[in-house]
Amino acid sequence: MKRTKVIDALKCTDFGSEITVMGWVRSKRGSKGIFFIALNDGSTIKNIQIVGEDQNFDEETIKQITTGACLRVKGVLVESPAAGQASEIQAKEIEVFGTCDNTYPLQKKGASWEYLRTVAHMRPRTNTFGAVFRIRHNMAMAIHSYFHEHGFFYFHTPLITASDCEGAGNMFQVTTKNLYELKKDEQGKIDYSDDFFGQQVALTVSGQLEGELGATALGQIYTFGPTFRAENSNTPRHLAEFWMIEPEMAFYDKEDLMDLEEDFIKYCVRWALDNCRDDLEFLNKMVDNTLIERLEGVLKDSFVRLPYTKGVEILQEAIKGGRKFEFPCQWGDDLASEHERYLVEEYFKKPVIMTDYPKEIKAFYMKLNEDGRTMQGTDVLFPQIGEIIGGSVREESYDKLMAEIGRRGMETEKLEWYLDTRRWGSCPHAGFGLGFERLILFVTGMQNIRDVIPFPRTPKNCEF
Ligand code: ATP
Ligand code: MN
Repeated sequence: MKRTKVIDALKCTDFGSEITVMGWVRSKRGSKGIFFIALNDGSTIKNIQIVGEDQNFDEETIKQITTGACLRVKGVLVESPAAGQASEIQAKEIEVFGTCDNTYPLQKKGASWEYLRTVAHMRPRTNTFGAVFRIRHNMAMAIHSYFHEHGFFYFHTPLITASDCEGAGNMFQVTTKNLYELKKDEQGKIDYSDDFFGQQVALTVSGQLEGELGATALGQIYTFGPTFRAENSNTPRHLAEFWMIEPEMAFYDKEDLMDLEEDFIKYCVRWALDNCRDDLEFLNKMVDNTLIERLEGVLKDSFVRLPYTKGVEILQEAIKGGRKFEFPCQWGDDLASEHERYLVEEYFKKPVIMTDYPKEIKAFYMKLNEDGRTMQGTDVLFPQIGEIIGGSVREESYDKLMAEIGRRGMETEKLEWYLDTRRWGSCPHAGFGLGFERLILFVTGMQNIRDVIPFPRTPKNCEF
């Protein structure tokens, strides 16, 4: 079908030429025998104005031009007398592809986020979600572009896995077994030998371990794919199915890693400012009027690099000075989101890379510092979001890694392939995981992670 996209039609100055556009009616008004349609086709946040004279169209067609209806409009591109738009179309032919009656759920303006989640199949047609999903696309492109430019290879790690990266029990099991007739052994344990994979498997919570295999062969790799966590935490920052970007680099130390985290995330934010201007301006006006300022702010300064121990001191100082927090904050505690946000938003007013965490709160694969109590983690904490990146230098010493695995009482049976990286040609290496939706939250100013992915999966919610 030959058509001009609205984004191109709005830029076109070839006035007098014939043009065909297709899209959905955002609104229609009329007076004195003339009607005006705001038409949007998703290519841009902006609508194109269609002007028509009642006398040139049959009554039935005009009646069918309602909010939400889908049209093909052929007409003449003319200079617009109206302010704020260069061109508009004088309609000569209108075909209604799809009518839309008043049961259409997006007729009223100002519907709540909660309501829009119940019509997630339709909400991409709203201005806000259109903007969010165009930005989401742009961020995916920025990520691939950054890594490609910097010589990283896109490495595909499996989604179905027999290993549990973090040793945590928050995985979704994958099985073809008939759950009504589970085969069990003498001890009453489920026997997986007749299951599809012949063993218990689940959806991945992280591609990191396999990513390390890639990095210790190709030098620098990244993954970018879906990740699944059955965390029963109903927060505005957690999804059960989210997308994660996990670069993994051989021959990187902690400084290299922090430099990459900062450079990468600034590149993405700059990309949004350079490529998503119209959508950002819309969101800045309608959703969060400090958004663009905040994005530009992140680019201005260097991120603060703050050892965990120092961070806890600052927090305890604040508590002594009367600052109230919901959760306690002692050395050794995992910092709560409120603590992270205090450091970022109130104390430093800049993003913070927090480093060198107590080993008790971090994963087994992180490189142990010489003090024997802290590990070389490098998490990036952002305003509004809290943790956006979780990163670390990996322990490359086989002996130290085994000691830590032993100390935690972990089974190595299913990890032998991972340990082989340390057995043969082990190398210093590091990597991080960025939650894609947390980045989108930051870049769009949206408040809830359910509103930056088209079809969110959260506890008790798997619709569409
Ligand atoms: P949090 O403490 O916020 O739950 P985490 O410590 O579990 O995060 P990691 O395991 O380090 O996070 O995962 C790397 C990144 O993935 C995080 O920094 C975050 O951006 C993102 N992430 C983690 N869990 C989720 C989730 N359930 N939904 C969306 N993004 C997530
Ligand atoms: Mn978590």
